[in-house]
Amino acid sequence: MSTYLSTGIIQILIFAGVLMALMQWLAVVKMPEARLRKPKPNKVTLKTKVINVVGNSAIAVIMLVSILYFGGDSLVYAASNETSGMTIFGEMLAVLLVYDFMYYFSHRAMHHPKVMKQVHGVHHYIRYPTAFESVYVHPVEGIIGIGLLMLSLTMLGPVSETSFLVAFFIYTSVNILVHANIRLNHPVFKLANYWAVRHDIHHGTQLNKNYASIFPFFDQFFDTNAVNKEEKS
Ligand SMILES: [Zn+2]
Ligand SMILES: [Zn+2]
Repeated sequence: MSTYLSTGIIQILIFAGVLMALMQWLAVVKMPEARLRKPKPNKVTLKTKVINVVGNSAIAVIMLVSILYFGGDSLVYAASNETSGMTIFGEMLAVLLVYDFMYYFSHRAMHHPKVMKQVHGVHHYIRYPTAFESVYVHPVEGIIGIGLLMLSLTMLGPVSETSFLVAFFIYTSVNILVHANIRLNHPVFKLANYWAVRHDIHHGTQLNKNYASIFPFFDQFFDTNAVNKEEKS
């Protein structure tokens, strides 16, 4: 793996940690009034959450690095001066689209009562999630998530290292933002608010809606879309 790729991954992981801490602090300490729904406590202890979140993050990083290491040139190539911005944008978008398409179906399948009980229920036990709980999932679900991203890369690769890094950055950040559970009052946060509201509906009142993580049109196409009336405008 190139130094560019490994440095990029480390920087994205550091950014994700900072973003997670910031959104958690906003929701719990600084602006609890901005929470989308008034939270009720659950029985999961902080210790259990920390073990789960740290464990899942470690598994994800190990998977990511080993797949990139062993996949090598078939997954990524070093961008040169001839690699255009459009190529990077197109590759990045394709990786995320294929990922989210597969994630839509796997998430929907995870709502089958048996899988819900054994696997996905761990995540849904948190009815009022915040950023920190974005990776509070059954380890199998964590493996499926990063596995699908890497599967998308395997199907479409090789893509430029930059395209992959941007896709990984968006994948990581969106997962944190959809669980932020707060609405921030500035137009700049419109997209973040939209994602947070969409996923809050999935955790709260309509578990059989809003399965996709990044792109809402998969839910719109398969008729599983739910939007808050006020968010439509
Ligand atoms: Zn779900
Ligand atoms: Zn969730």
